[in-house]
Amino acid sequence: MALALFAWLTVVLHGPRSHRQGSSLNSAAPKSPRIVGQCVFCQAFTSNRGAFDIVWEDADFLAFRDHQPACLHHIQLIPKFHISSVRNLTSRDVDMIRRMESIGNDILDKYKVPQTHRKMGFHIPPFNTVQHLHLHVQALPYTSFVVQFKYPVARGFGALNKGFSWFVEVAQTIRILDKGSTVGVLPC
Ligand SMILES: [Zn+2]
Ligand SMILES: [Zn+2]
Repeated sequence: MALALFAWLTVVLHGPRSHRQGSSLNSAAPKSPRIVGQCVFCQAFTSNRGAFDIVWEDADFLAFRDHQPACLHHIQLIPKFHISSVRNLTSRDVDMIRRMESIGNDILDKYKVPQTHRKMGFHIPPFNTVQHLHLHVQALPYTSFVVQFKYPVARGFGALNKGFSWFVEVAQTIRILDKGSTVGVLPC
């Protein structure tokens, strides 16, 4: 039963058109090289820039439009080095995540998105499609209920900053890392 649910969730979240090919590397951040040739998002700032609709860039980060937008503005913001996912982050990464949150807000400022319509966060493995850390920067509302289901926010309770969910807001991520924990699907 649990396996069937998991398989169903995987299909619902990843969809039939997921671009997972060549992105199955999942080594922990400290051991992984800075750039992974087969990683589709590493290619966005190296060999295959032309395939991405880039909207913002500096020396350390790159932002481009999602190829299947879930809402009016749907941007992917990535670091220009390979780190697999939000699960690999620790308290040492809080400054980087704060920087990504700030850049995300700058981008949404550019599009004049009101604060109440902003949402930013990460998918949590195994519910991420590309194994390269990417912050979803979004201007709500979502285009459909089915799409919205991919980005659930579960509030924390007690000492926990997050409930059960496969998506974590950037602010939740910062609080979880700040207290020395790591991010997972289960409450944390
Ligand atoms: Zn990569
Ligand atoms: Zn994602």
